[in-house]
Amino acid sequence: MFDAFLTALPFYPAILAEDLLRYVLGAGLVHLCVNLGIGQWLRHRRIHPDRRPGRQQILAEIGASLRTTLIFSVNGFLITVGAVAGALPIYLDIAARGWIWFAASVSLLILLHDAWFYWTHRLMHQPQLYRYLHREHHRSFRPTAFAAYRFDVLEALVQAAYLPVALAVVPAHPLAIFLFTSHMILRDAVAHSGIELFPARKDGRPWLGWLTTVTHHDLHHGTAHWNFGLYFTWWDRLCGTEHPEYLARFARSALRASAVLLFCAGTLAAAAGTVFAETAPLRGSWVTEGASLVVRFDACADDPGTTCGIITRSWDPGIATGVLIITDLGPTRAGWAGRLIDPETGARYKGRIEPLDADTLRLEGCAGPICRRQIWRSARWLRAALADGPP
Ligand SMILES: [Zn+2]
Ligand SMILES: [Zn+2]
Repeated sequence: MFDAFLTALPFYPAILAEDLLRYVLGAGLVHLCVNLGIGQWLRHRRIHPDRRPGRQQILAEIGASLRTTLIFSVNGFLITVGAVAGALPIYLDIAARGWIWFAASVSLLILLHDAWFYWTHRLMHQPQLYRYLHREHHRSFRPTAFAAYRFDVLEALVQAAYLPVALAVVPAHPLAIFLFTSHMILRDAVAHSGIELFPARKDGRPWLGWLTTVTHHDLHHGTAHWNFGLYFTWWDRLCGTEHPEYLARFARSALRASAVLLFCAGTLAAAAGTVFAETAPLRGSWVTEGASLVVRFDACADDPGTTCGIITRSWDPGIATGVLIITDLGPTRAGWAGRLIDPETGARYKGRIEPLDADTLRLEGCAGPICRRQIWRSARWLRAALADGPP
C-alpha cells in the first residue's frame, strides 16, 4: 500500500487543480449566467425577487466550499492510491468493458449518489447531528450557486465518503468518474442559483418531473423540513417529504422557463465568443394598447418556422376577428422582428417586438422614418388586473 501511495503522490497537484477548477468553473459559470448580462430576462424568474444575497454571504459560501474542495482532493488522492494498489476496480481501457457498461456506470454512480445524499441528508437533519454536520450549509437561507459545496467539515467527509464506497462496487473508468463529478457540480450549482432554470409545461408543471428543480432545493433551504433529494424527486415522493406547495411554487417561478434555458445557453456561448442568443418563438394571447384587440401568436400556417399574430377578439366593430395582423415573425437578439399589418388599411410595416417582462411587450412599427410604439399586455396580466389580484 505504501508503494501505491508513493506512486500516486505525484498526481496530487493535478487532482487538487481539477477539484478546484470544477468548483470555480461550475459554480462561477452558473452564477455569472444567472446574474450578468441577462438580468432583464431572468429577473422575473427569481425565486425571491425581494432579496438578493450580499457579498458577505457569497464570500462565506466560497470560503467553506474551498475547504470542501480541499477535502474532496484528498479523497480523490486516496481513491487514486486505492486504484494503484488494486483495491478499487478502476479500469483504464474503456474497450475492456465496452461503452454500454461505461454509460451504465455513469448512470449507476448518479443514481446511487442520489440515494446516498437523500438518506445521509435526512439523517443530518436530526437535531443531534444537525449542529455538527449540516448547519454551515443552511447558513445560506437564500443560497447562490457558490453554496454548492458550503459544508461543515464533517458533512464534507460524509459526502466525500460516497465515491470510494461506490467505486468499490461499481467498476468505473476515470472518464466516467469525471462525467459523474461534472454532473454533480453542475446540478449542485444550478440547484442553489436562486433562479428557476428548469423548463415548465403549459400548465406550469416541470417538464421532467422526476428531476429536482431549483425551486425544489430552494424550498429546502427556506424550510429545512422538506425536499431532501439531490438529483431526483422520487425519494421525497416515496417517503412523503416533498414540500406540499412544491409544484405550485415551481409554476409561479418557472413560466416559460425553457426560454431562459435557451437564453442562458446563448449568453454562455456569447461569452465564449460566439454570437448566438436568440429568443424562443413568441406565443400566447396578448392584449393591444387600449385593450381594443386580443391577438394570438402561433406558428404561421404557411411557414411553421415563423410566427403569425391573428386577431381573436375585437372591441372595435370595424375590425373583424380572424384577421392576420402580424406575419413572418422571427427571433432576434433583443426579441422578434417581422411584418405588422394595419387591420384597417392593410398597410404593412417593418416591426419589432421586444419583451419588457413576462407579461409586457413593446411593439414598434416603422413606415420609413416614422415609427409608432405600443405596449401590449399578456392575457394573463389582463385577467389578473380584472380580478384586481397580483399580476
Ligand atoms: Zn443546499
Ligand atoms: Zn439540508
